[in-house]
Amino acid sequence: MKPVLVTGGAGYIGSHTVQELIKDGALVVVLDNLSTGHLDAVHARHFYEGDIADTALVEHIIKEHGIKSVIHFAAKSLVGESLAKPELYFYENTVKSFMFFEAAVKAGVKHIVFSSTAAVYGIPPDIPIREETMLAPINPYGDSKRMIEKYLEWMGKVHSINWVALRYFNAAGASLDGSLGEDHRPETHLIPLVLQTALGLREKLAVFGTDYKTADGTCIRDYVHVIDLANAHILALHALEHGLQSGIFNVGTGKGYSVREIIAKSQALTGYKIAVEYGERRAGDPPVLAADSAAIKGILGWEPGYSDLETILSSAWHWHSTHPKGYRL
Ligand code: UDP
Repeated sequence: MKPVLVTGGAGYIGSHTVQELIKDGALVVVLDNLSTGHLDAVHARHFYEGDIADTALVEHIIKEHGIKSVIHFAAKSLVGESLAKPELYFYENTVKSFMFFEAAVKAGVKHIVFSSTAAVYGIPPDIPIREETMLAPINPYGDSKRMIEKYLEWMGKVHSINWVALRYFNAAGASLDGSLGEDHRPETHLIPLVLQTALGLREKLAVFGTDYKTADGTCIRDYVHVIDLANAHILALHALEHGLQSGIFNVGTGKGYSVREIIAKSQALTGYKIAVEYGERRAGDPPVLAADSAAIKGILGWEPGYSDLETILSSAWHWHSTHPKGYRL
C-alpha cells in the first residue's frame, strides 16, 4: 500500500477523496487543523491535527510514513469571505501552501495533486472554459489559488517533482453510503441551502440575481459530484506516479444548470415546496461557468459517473435529511 498524505482530509472534498483512496487500496495519512473540517469525516488510518504551515510537523509526517505523494486540499474557500478579508486568503492559502510545499519537497515528496478552482478564470470570455483561457480572477480566493499554480510551475521545474492542479467547477453531492457530506459553517453553497430549506431548517432561499443574461435570468454552474472529483485526484496521482508530465486540468461535466433549475429539480425530488426570495446579485459571481474537460478525459481517462443532477441531488438529500445538523448529529 502506497502512503498518500492528504491535507484538508477532514473537509468536504478532502474527506470524500480519502474515502475513495482507501477503496483504491492506499494508506492514507491526513493532516488537517480542523479549522473548518470535521473529525468525524476523517476515515483515514493516520490523522494528524495540525497546520500545513507547521513545517517541522510536515517534515516529520512525510519522513515517518515514507510519503512521496501528496494531495493538497487544505485551504479557505469562501468567495465572500475572501472579498472581506483578502489578507486572510493570501496568508492561509498562498503563503501557507508555499511553506507546505517547500517542507514537503525537502522531506522527499515527488508528486503533488493540488486542489485549484474555476475561480481562477474570473468571468470567462467563452463557454465552455478551456484550460488555456486567460486567467483573470475576480476575487482573492481565485487569485490565492492562481498564485499557487504559478508557484508549482517553478517548483516542479527547479526541484524535479511532477504535479497536477485540478480546477474544479461546483463540487456537489455526498457519498453514496451516507457517511460523508457537505457541512460548511456558515453554509454558503446553493445545493445544501436549497435542501436545508426543503427540510424546514431554513425559512427561505435567497436567489442572488434574476437579471443575468441567461435563459431564465439566474446564474448557471457546472455541478460535479464530489465522488467524481475524488476520482479525478486518484487518477492524477496514479498518472504522476507513472511519470505524467505536470499539468492543469479542468474538472466539470460541461453541462450547466441555472439556480432556478436546481430549485425546481430539488422540489420535484424532495416533494417539498422551497420558499424562495429573489434578491440582488452577489458580488463576484460570474453569470455562467461550465468546463471543457476534454483534457482530463483524454489524458487521464476521467469520466464522470455520478454527476447527473439526479444522483447529485439525491445523494445530497440523503445526507442532509439524515444529518440535519451535519456532523454534529
Ligand atoms: N446562489 C444563490 N443563493 C444562495 C447561494 C448561491 O442564488 O443562497 C447562487 C450563486 O449566486 C451562484 C450559484 O448559486 O450563481 C452557485 O453558488 P455557490 O455558492 O453554490 O457556488 P459558487 O459558484 O459561488 O462556487
